Amino acid sequence: MSASASKTIVYARLVVDGTGRPPIENGAVRIEGTKIAAVGPAAALAPAPGEVVTEIDLRPHTVIPGLIDVHTHLGLAGDGRGYEDMALDSDEMMVLAGVMNLQKHLRAGVTTVRDNGERNRVGFALREGIERGYVVGPRLLACGRPITCTGGHFHWCNEVADGADEIRRSVRRLVHEGADHIKIMASGGGTRGTVPGRPSYSVEELHAASHEAHTLGRLTVAHCRAKESMVRAVHAGLDLIEHAEFLDPDGVMRYDPKIAEMMQEAGVYVSPTLQAFGYPTILRLRRKRDRVDLTPAEADLLARCEARLETHLDHFRRMLDAGLRERMVTGSDSGCGELAFGHLDYDIQLFAQGGLTPTETLHAATRVAAEAIGLGDTLGTLAPGKEADLAIVDGDPTRDVGALSRVVAVFKAGQRVD
Ligand SMILES: [Zn+2]
Repeated sequence: MSASASKTIVYARLVVDGTGRPPIENGAVRIEGTKIAAVGPAAALAPAPGEVVTEIDLRPHTVIPGLIDVHTHLGLAGDGRGYEDMALDSDEMMVLAGVMNLQKHLRAGVTTVRDNGERNRVGFALREGIERGYVVGPRLLACGRPITCTGGHFHWCNEVADGADEIRRSVRRLVHEGADHIKIMASGGGTRGTVPGRPSYSVEELHAASHEAHTLGRLTVAHCRAKESMVRAVHAGLDLIEHAEFLDPDGVMRYDPKIAEMMQEAGVYVSPTLQAFGYPTILRLRRKRDRVDLTPAEADLLARCEARLETHLDHFRRMLDAGLRERMVTGSDSGCGELAFGHLDYDIQLFAQGGLTPTETLHAATRVAAEAIGLGDTLGTLAPGKEADLAIVDGDPTRDVGALSRVVAVFKAGQRVD
């Protein structure tokens, strides 16, 4: 640390460092430059006589590590349109949507975002815009474009590859362009003409992606709504499974304990994207129901969304029981459909509903998520030497995850966000 690095001390009623240690009451975090220099009781971190330090008193509140969202689509507006409509937007409009979305997430305490797929160079442009200081946003890890089969989910992003050779070429192309990780669509999804319950690639094809990516030092993530795609992703050595929806080809979710056991043995991370299955609709219709009667069509939609969410939560609980508690990470899938940015807290609420304790839920959104994206050494907990990414929340998140919906201040790399 250079002598000229700016020094800041943030005081809080509670400091929750994300390691599982008990909260520090009347605590403080000392920041030097972009990094955390010390964490402890306020009295122990007070400035030395004559030391020039900016002191920020946030004493009614709690300091936690900045939140991490492992799954977004920054170029999509999350305004309820289908993919076919959103894909009519120009790349330029997608970049503008991305600028808006980055700010919404950052203000909600999300200091690191892993983007899982944009069209053309939209994801890379956003990352470079942040690095150049043109745009304020969280740290951004971008895959660039997701790899998909001919006619597959997100084919309009323009990284179509069939067969192991083409997939290897796609991985090399993406890494050359600057991909931080590799995303591959292992099953169909919400894109018209694809079938969510069916796999898109063979084990051999998925293995080509994971092997090439790992050779080039990149982690991999697979979109897996089909049960069979989950099995193949594990066999192929992919690092993180998105959605994990256990869908059969007939479109029905049926949990399979053998697959959960396979995932646990392989040590794969899981981002179940719990809010991505109609949760905003559920919240909207429940709020409306509190004021007026729902129409029969609305009541029916609400009932169907709630039933589906219950199945997801039941599967989530069973995956926890299968030994995946420390492998679950928060991913919002923001941008798609009605999933507006700024609401990683929906995932957090659902993780807690699904059976994680408040502390485990916080870890899923911080320490475990940092490990899952390969940044456990620099992010995810409040510890000396780590990046000074902090969220300041109203309440004690080790007792009530609702505190994570009440973000009152954010620091990224030691800088307070306006
Ligand atoms: Zn997605």
